[in-house]
Amino acid sequence: MDNLIEKITTLNLGKVEENVLLSKYTTYKVGGKARAIVYPKNISSLTRLIKLLKSEEVTYKVIGNGSNLLFSEKKYDGIIIKLSEFDEIKFLNGNKIRVGAGYPLMKLSSLAAKKGLTGLEFASGIPGSVGGSVFMNAGAYKSDMGYIVKEVKVLTPDLKVITLENKEMNFHYRSSFLQKHPNFICLEVVIKLEKGNKQAIEEVIKERRKRRMESQPLEYPSAGSVFRNPTGMFAGEMIENLGLKGKKIGGAMVSKKHANFIINYKKATSNDIKKLIDLVHDEVLEKYKVDLKIEQEFVNWE
Ligand SMILES: Cc1cc2nc3c(=O)[nH]c(=O)nc-3n(C[C@H](O)[C@H](O)[C@H](O)COP(=O)(O)OP(=O)(O)OC[C@H]3O[C@@H](n4cnc5c(N)ncnc54)[C@H](O)[C@@H]3O)c2cc1C
Repeated sequence: MDNLIEKITTLNLGKVEENVLLSKYTTYKVGGKARAIVYPKNISSLTRLIKLLKSEEVTYKVIGNGSNLLFSEKKYDGIIIKLSEFDEIKFLNGNKIRVGAGYPLMKLSSLAAKKGLTGLEFASGIPGSVGGSVFMNAGAYKSDMGYIVKEVKVLTPDLKVITLENKEMNFHYRSSFLQKHPNFICLEVVIKLEKGNKQAIEEVIKERRKRRMESQPLEYPSAGSVFRNPTGMFAGEMIENLGLKGKKIGGAMVSKKHANFIINYKKATSNDIKKLIDLVHDEVLEKYKVDLKIEQEFVNWE
């Protein structure tokens, strides 16, 4: 692995940070060490990096803002790839935006609002990157990325750059083509919005921010909703009805404010959070006979 890191540096494939604590790169603020994080500068360096990792049979994982991930405490003996440098943004023909996968979604939402473009208000409180949000088909308030993404430029597993149209992205509730094909990497997205009234858009964002502050435990580290809502039901409501709000394991707790959030309230470990997720899942299964599906992703637990 030392040789590999040296090669990445010598070949100038991106800035390298070695022996990093993943807790610094996830919104849960938990996770063990990773051998290195690499920040490729552009598509060419990313392509060369992946080629090298494949030829050396080294595991890798692309992450965005780590706001939907639960890494274990185990050392991640591979390379984490972060596309923060893919942050270019260009406004096209008035209501379209071409934006890099590393661009923060919340920043994009407020920029669109400033330009008087409507359609991204739902994203004003989602702390992900554009790439991670396309992967997850992140959404809120009955909207999601699938409504606004026109096309997605991706790197395929055989290292070709292709463009997928909205239809090909197969967006569904918290699901997309990328989730079903995790070896594709989102590079850039074209988003289509509508012209709107700047003041009205900013009002909606302000009102939703207030609602989030009131209903979500934003003062603690978390990764948002733990479970997907089953059709016609709310996971949070079922968890609350079982009296699980405030349930703790180690430093992890089912939020008292929002039952579908698990918070790291006091130096939780990844294990604390995972055990609490399992406990909630099993209680809901026992009492409601509903097998809740996890929205968050467990990484490096095998
Ligand atoms: C306080 C809070 C509130 C939240 N509210 C919401 C909400 O309202 N709605 C909602 O949907 N989610 C919400 N979330 C969850 C989370 O923010 C979203 O799922 C977000 O879209 C994840 O983006 P990310 O960049 O953090 O992805 P990460 O967590 O870093 O990664 C998620 C997955 O995407 C993959 N990925 C990341 N970037 C790329 C890329 N460029 N190409 C290919 N794959 C990639 C990763 O490999 C991983 O599998 C919330 C989270 C928090 C902490």
